[in-house]
Amino acid sequence: MKYDYLVVGSGLYGAVFAHEAKKSGKSVLVVDKRPNIAGNVYTEKTEGIHVHKYGAHIFHTNNKKVWEYITQFAEFNRFTNSPVANYRGELYSLPFNMYTFNKMWGVVTPEEAEAKIEEQRKEAGITTPKNLEEQAISLVGRDIYEKLIRGYTEKQWGRDCKDLPAFIIKRLPVRLTFDNNYFNALYQGIPVGGYTKMVANLLDGIEVRLNTDYLEQKTELDALADKVVYTGPIDAYFAYKLGTLEYRSVRFETETLDKPNFQGNAAVNYTDRETPWTRIIEHKWFEFGKDENGNDLPKTVISREYSSEWKPGDEPYYPVNDEKNGALYAEYKKLADAETKVIFGGRLGEYKYYDMDAVIASALEMCEREL
Ligand SMILES: Cc1cc2nc3c(=O)[nH]c(=O)nc-3n(C[C@H](O)[C@H](O)[C@H](O)COP(=O)(O)OP(=O)(O)OC[C@H]3O[C@@H](n4cnc5c(N)ncnc54)[C@H](O)[C@@H]3O)c2cc1C
Repeated sequence: MKYDYLVVGSGLYGAVFAHEAKKSGKSVLVVDKRPNIAGNVYTEKTEGIHVHKYGAHIFHTNNKKVWEYITQFAEFNRFTNSPVANYRGELYSLPFNMYTFNKMWGVVTPEEAEAKIEEQRKEAGITTPKNLEEQAISLVGRDIYEKLIRGYTEKQWGRDCKDLPAFIIKRLPVRLTFDNNYFNALYQGIPVGGYTKMVANLLDGIEVRLNTDYLEQKTELDALADKVVYTGPIDAYFAYKLGTLEYRSVRFETETLDKPNFQGNAAVNYTDRETPWTRIIEHKWFEFGKDENGNDLPKTVISREYSSEWKPGDEPYYPVNDEKNGALYAEYKKLADAETKVIFGGRLGEYKYYDMDAVIASALEMCEREL
């Protein structure tokens, strides 16, 4: 065997594993079917701006070990996610906080805001919510539901809130403070120089073959290594023999605009039902509109995001955590556990929604067990 490990996928899971394996003195080959490294955190430079090609990625964690680990490979800026909601031209601060309530009702103190929410909840008179609409109204009242939840949720799910089950929304965090920092995380930011550079640093000195689909060349590639770390879709590995796991998908429309500032914020959510996109990302604001030398950038790049139904062959984004898919995954997991030479990891290998910090933590745990 030429290598100790063949790592399939150069996303965060694969890159962390490959890095740690090399550090332990193992020989590693990484393959990825895409033309680039970094999986879904891939960023590409356009007009001096690091464009998040597979959706906006904001690093946030409370896990000190993960933070100390990842900051070896990138310096992070101080970006804090504070999205804005646009409801038919009215702008609101997110997540729901005192700025939101002041704009919505003119209330000034936390007591006034609390009383207003309570009044609306009482008015609705819902005791046992039968669907998502009733659940949301019973949690935050009708105004917030109508302006900030309804349209966005309906676009995300492609269905009426009345036809969605109540359990989708368990809680709706309401902040009675002027705090619009979306993530309650101790550590957050965006890697200076982009995520691709951070992953390239993880993969430094490791052989990487791009445009290489493992499943198309499985026999030849398997012959090269003692063990395989597979971070692609688990059902694809088994040639979908038990059926296809479903995902929810997102479609991005990205354009470069010949102006320095389109919306003044990294993320603006369109919370009405009529606007077809769910949100617009303006990538330069993840880095405060500056290039690496601190110069202002004359142009801007925006991505409109549309929720879309996933069909086999589309890019898989979010696993569907329902009973049917959970049961199918459990069957695939049994097959995976029976493979002695292969470790399945990452969001596709484990059919699990992982934030970046969680996928890094999971890869590090695997390294501890394996290496
Ligand atoms: C739209 C969106 C937004 C997100 N935003 C955030 C955020 O703001 N903050 C956050 O913490 N997390 C976010 N995440 C989660 C984050 O993307 C994941 O945690 C991370 O990308 C998972 O890394 P991974 O290595 O498991 O998978 P991936 O990044 O998907 O890597 C898997 C790799 O395997 C390759 N591969 C698959 N099959 C094969 C094959 N047959 N042969 C060769 N290569 C193969 C793929 O090409 C890919 O490069 C977001 C996710 C999505 C979908």
